[in-house]
Amino acid sequence: MPPSVEVRPRDARGYPVPAITPWDGDQPQFALTDYERSANCARGRLCSVCNALMPRGPVWRVVGASESAAISDALAAGRPYRNLAPTLEGPGHRACMLYASMVCPYLARPNARRGTSARTPDDMTAHVVRGAVRGSMGAVVGFADYEFAVAATQVAFRFIDVVEFLPHDVADAHIDELRAELDARDRPGQAR
Ligand SMILES: [Zn+2]
Repeated sequence: MPPSVEVRPRDARGYPVPAITPWDGDQPQFALTDYERSANCARGRLCSVCNALMPRGPVWRVVGASESAAISDALAAGRPYRNLAPTLEGPGHRACMLYASMVCPYLARPNARRGTSARTPDDMTAHVVRGAVRGSMGAVVGFADYEFAVAATQVAFRFIDVVEFLPHDVADAHIDELRAELDARDRPGQAR
């Protein structure tokens, strides 16, 4: 577990609660995204998992099967990928997203993903991925940059220029990558 996630509040079972998760009393609502918390992360460039500052440079997020296939397709064709449909899921640190992709059922399993995407990107991109190679259940993806809009009722994110693409077929696919990332953070100048 990344150190910044380790210090997050826990639910009754001991699971760390992401920064953007709303609470109902002492019950975190893992399936939902909190508007104020999400806006706070967006405005402060804070990680949506651990709530700590993301340094200048790339940011990461977890994408589901359809978007993973669309990105894979774009990379293979040598054309840029942009999620033209905004998403309500904000970015985070590489280690946090690697961790979340393996632990958070709403991120790790496409059928369990939040049903809150602003324009249901999975539907919007369905025509793009038709015929694309399937099999990946999602991916951890690094983007060069992102932009956001805090609207009256929701916070939407758009991501620009894929810089890293790590598809996963099984929930623990990124354990070695995460270990290496956490080890690298222990060395000065390597943290990201
Ligand atoms: Zn983080």
